[in-house]
Amino acid sequence: MTQQLTIALTKGRILKQTLPLLQAAGLAPVEDIASSRKLIFNTEHANVRVVILRGSDVPTYVRHGAADIGVVGKDMLLEFGAEGLYEPLDLGIAPCRLMTAGFSGRENTRTRIRVASKFVNIARRHYSSKGIQADIIKLYGAMELAPLMDLADEIVDIVDTGNTLRANGMSPLEHIADISTRLVVNKAAMRTRHDAIQEVIEALARTVDQAANRGSTS
Ligand code: AMP
Repeated sequence: MTQQLTIALTKGRILKQTLPLLQAAGLAPVEDIASSRKLIFNTEHANVRVVILRGSDVPTYVRHGAADIGVVGKDMLLEFGAEGLYEPLDLGIAPCRLMTAGFSGRENTRTRIRVASKFVNIARRHYSSKGIQADIIKLYGAMELAPLMDLADEIVDIVDTGNTLRANGMSPLEHIADISTRLVVNKAAMRTRHDAIQEVIEALARTVDQAANRGSTS
């Protein structure tokens, strides 16, 4: 048998929205991922398996060729870089925005701004492109707490409805990037396993088109 193609999936919110796409593309996992502690699953396509990872690890697995294909948020590609990867398809799922946020209207009298984020590279690039000196503080969760506790003046975070910010007395301030979930492919695998990978890209592209058409007619 030829070696299976491996697709690295991002667990959590993105996984939930990826599973219907895989199902429609004939790539559904053969077991229920939610009720299993396994991390590798065969799919109904004999030549394709999936592995379940944190989003921040997906670019690494695909860049090193441990996985051929990845499903990952654009935020992870902007933060960790996309070298060695093709990005052939926007899956259009889990859309959101990367924004700066803080207490609107509060005068910032510091000469340097303190910014808390898990997206330290994106935050550094954003403030430096505006000529603002920023001390970036790495956090792993609950970014909204940092301005409330005077750990930071602003945060860089993902905003969907804005409800989390509002519930904590903050507002979105500046738009950094629109985010959605992307299909990425290892560049070397794209050459050596072109036909198998192209089959997966096309099956998912058809599914994304069908979902978009259903959305526009409903
Ligand atoms: P919201 O209150 O709707 O603005 O959602 C904000 C929080 O939900 C953020 O702090 C994120 O942690 C999370 N979130 C919302 N949408 C996404 C997404 N598409 N991908 C990852 N996290 C998200």
